[in-house]
Amino acid sequence: MQTQTTEAKTEIKSIDCSHYINGKYAPSKNGKTFENINPATEEKLGVVAAGSKEEVDQAVSAARKALKGEWANLPLRKRSAIIRKIGDLILERKEELATLESLDTGKPLWLSNSVDIDRAAYNFHFFADFMTSVGNETYQQDDIAVHYAVRRPVGVVGLINPWNLPLLLMTWKLAPALAAGNTVVMKPSEVTPMTATVLAQICSDAGVPDGVVNMVHGFGETGAALTSHPDVDAIAFTGETVTGSEIMKSAAPTLKKLSFELGGKNPNIIFADTDLDDTIETTIKSSFINQGEVCLCGSRIYVERAIYDAFLERFVARTKELKVGNPFEETTNIGALVSEEHYKKVLRYLDIAKEEGATFLTGGTASEGFEKGFFVDPTIITGLGKDSRCVREEIFGPVVTVIPFDTEEEVLEQVNGTHYGLSASLWTSDIKRAHRVGGQIEAGMVWINTWFLRDLRTPFGGMKHSGIGREGGAHSFDFYSELTNITVKL
Ligand code: NDP
Repeated sequence: MQTQTTEAKTEIKSIDCSHYINGKYAPSKNGKTFENINPATEEKLGVVAAGSKEEVDQAVSAARKALKGEWANLPLRKRSAIIRKIGDLILERKEELATLESLDTGKPLWLSNSVDIDRAAYNFHFFADFMTSVGNETYQQDDIAVHYAVRRPVGVVGLINPWNLPLLLMTWKLAPALAAGNTVVMKPSEVTPMTATVLAQICSDAGVPDGVVNMVHGFGETGAALTSHPDVDAIAFTGETVTGSEIMKSAAPTLKKLSFELGGKNPNIIFADTDLDDTIETTIKSSFINQGEVCLCGSRIYVERAIYDAFLERFVARTKELKVGNPFEETTNIGALVSEEHYKKVLRYLDIAKEEGATFLTGGTASEGFEKGFFVDPTIITGLGKDSRCVREEIFGPVVTVIPFDTEEEVLEQVNGTHYGLSASLWTSDIKRAHRVGGQIEAGMVWINTWFLRDLRTPFGGMKHSGIGREGGAHSFDFYSELTNITVKL
């Protein structure tokens, strides 16, 4: 068997990761660390400080103190300029950040460059502009009174994030949290700690005062220490639905404000009157980009029976062209899964699919030919019914199920027959059907004849077990601020 090496072709070196508390990098008090592993080579990238309640206490206390400092009271244009500068510095360090992101996650370098890092910078540029236009409500009540609302920061906010889009998702929370004048404690995923570590320094270089941005590394217990901390006012969390439920319990005694972006099992509904060329190309992306490790990936594909065979023939042929391999090769389409634990989880689901009687049109196994690393071939499954675990549960890998349907009613029942409700794609050239069906899908975001087309002003988030609240534009501002209504009697 031919084997491939997957070493990083780069001069940029991985980094050890310390906490960042009150403007300084710091190890854990007890000196504990854990190893950070490159999922494409299984080599050690470095060590990461293992946080405990002690470091969380220090970070929260620094953030609490900074809340009384200059940050929230800086003139709007100055705070906006600092936030813009963070975006500029991310772009200046793009090559380094993209490399670290690919080393940590196993995703192709071209993807880190074109999606993760560009978007991380844009998150700051967008909110630097947006914050200058946020207004407040005012009501004149006849000749009796004038009411107006004033905004203030929520306070100390914990930002807890997953491993699939580490810098993109952290900055999606950090930028509006800072724009609204809060101080924060970030908790990156234990498996992808590197870019957040650099981000802390970038914030300081851009002029963010000490104590405003803090970061503690560690496992779920570190996150739990943050979510139960009495001096933390709000938690913005992206991650698995079960973790969201744990966080809700842990935050309940101190009644924290919560924003949840959780898991999904997103449908991709393809009617026979679609433009098949466009549908197939976009479906290749929505199925397999980032190894299928995007919360918005469309992992349940429903195809109207009249084009089921034609769709599958072309979709399978295109999928077979995808190259699984070294994240640092330009021609790689699909890199490594993020960790051994996640790799085993995805392979377990492939076994479950076999037990459930699936037919694998592509993939179905770990990729062959690699000396090391957590590679799984893009997998198209047919032959599973709506109650199959692989159709109902989030796999979060390069695995899709394809199911034929005959009527709108039937497909809607299947599409909505899950606890999840994050996003959906709908393909049809019938505009009336697009609106009719689109409006009945139980999801926070529905794309018609496209996928992942984003405008950062629009509401982003999920319903049912896929989330609580919305992020984006004014929605982010509402979460990261408190409103006080002031009434002046006339
Ligand atoms: P997890 O929920 O396992 O972890 C997310 C973060 O929460 C990590 O930093 C994790 O720490 C931390 N954490 C774990 N347990 C606790 C706890 N009890 N209290 C506080 N924090 C805790 O998610 P994954 O990292 O596995 O990410 C994949 C999931 O994220 C998928 O379900 C995916 O759908 C979802 N996601 C949702 C998005 C959306 O916008 N809706 C976008 C992207 C991903 P640790 O380091 O120990 O893992």
